[in-house]
Amino acid sequence: MVDCVVIGGGPAGLSAALNLARARLSVLVIDSDRPRHAATLISHGFITRDGVPPNELRRLAREEVAGYPGVDFWRRSAVRSVSRPAIPTTSDGTHPFTVTVAGTTPAADRVVHSRTVLVATGLRETLPAVPGIRGFYGMSLFSCVACDGYELNDQPLALIGETDDLYARALLVAQWTSTLTVFTNGSAAVTAPEALALRERGITVERRTITELEGDRGRLVAVHVDGGDRVPVTGGFVRPFWHPTIEFLSPLSVADDAFGHLLTDRDGRTSVPGLYAAGDVAAPGPQQLIVAAGAGARTAAVITHDLLGVTTAH
Ligand SMILES: Cc1cc2nc3c(=O)[nH]c(=O)nc-3n(C[C@H](O)[C@H](O)[C@H](O)COP(=O)(O)OP(=O)(O)OC[C@H]3O[C@@H](n4cnc5c(N)ncnc54)[C@H](O)[C@@H]3O)c2cc1C
Repeated sequence: MVDCVVIGGGPAGLSAALNLARARLSVLVIDSDRPRHAATLISHGFITRDGVPPNELRRLAREEVAGYPGVDFWRRSAVRSVSRPAIPTTSDGTHPFTVTVAGTTPAADRVVHSRTVLVATGLRETLPAVPGIRGFYGMSLFSCVACDGYELNDQPLALIGETDDLYARALLVAQWTSTLTVFTNGSAAVTAPEALALRERGITVERRTITELEGDRGRLVAVHVDGGDRVPVTGGFVRPFWHPTIEFLSPLSVADDAFGHLLTDRDGRTSVPGLYAAGDVAAPGPQQLIVAAGAGARTAAVITHDLLGVTTAH
């Protein structure tokens, strides 16, 4: 039995684990080690760590957390389910969660009991169906404008997407460049009035299907569209489809929003008492390392208070 099982060893989970350990609570971090940002070599915007490889950020964080007593890690381990019996099963009246971690066979599954659970499993993402797009992702095509816009300053850029927030994203990207082409890849992502408003700002909307991304070793040099036209660019942004990874919570019937993000109050409490969420898996916000780390720290403080049954303003 531990005080908190943290599911996910990204910035949200590790920051929570650090603060829980410092509050002298016992913590088990379970992480499948498949971070979404593995595609990129460099991450930006984390104060004191601007420009650090994202894996290095995680390694440093794990090292710090592991220095505290009461912390354990199960790495390369995926949680299969989190459940809790309707009535307490322990003699002392505690009402623990059961967290099951997938083994190579069901017989090899491992089980741990915990007073609380923090879900920090981030997001999975699917890129638009454009030939070869994976090879450029994280190298010259990025998803987070705040994270990577600065390095692409004043260059001819592409914005590729099929969702109805593409217009808003185009305005955002135009903050960093005046030469922008928005590729809807044959979708209806940008409405006619939006396209007009973009044109008035000098932003081109290309509605034809993308047939090829031209480039070398991750460096994009042009986008080819149906009909044979070629648009030269040096990089840009893509709008992935994001999916929270929370299938393992199905035994708990926890509330989520229209996009599948876990619904929480401002302190990370979900609809299930004792179950918390932080980072990209919770309601949409800036998807950034430091934001996820901040959410993890905040939720750790709330878990510490809730376990004691106290509320303090500070
Ligand atoms: C290409 C790319 C570049 C980026 N660049 C930047 C940048 O420069 N600056 C910046 O601030 N942000 C950047 N981001 C965004 C940033 O990576 C995320 O916002 C941040 O990592 C979210 O942290 P998190 O802890 O919520 O989730 P994650 O970092 O995604 O960590 C979640 C962890 O949970 C694990 N997990 C998932 N399911 C399970 C399960 N069932 N059991 C156990 N473990 C599980 C995963 O393996 C993963 O290790 C980038 C993202 C991408 C995709």
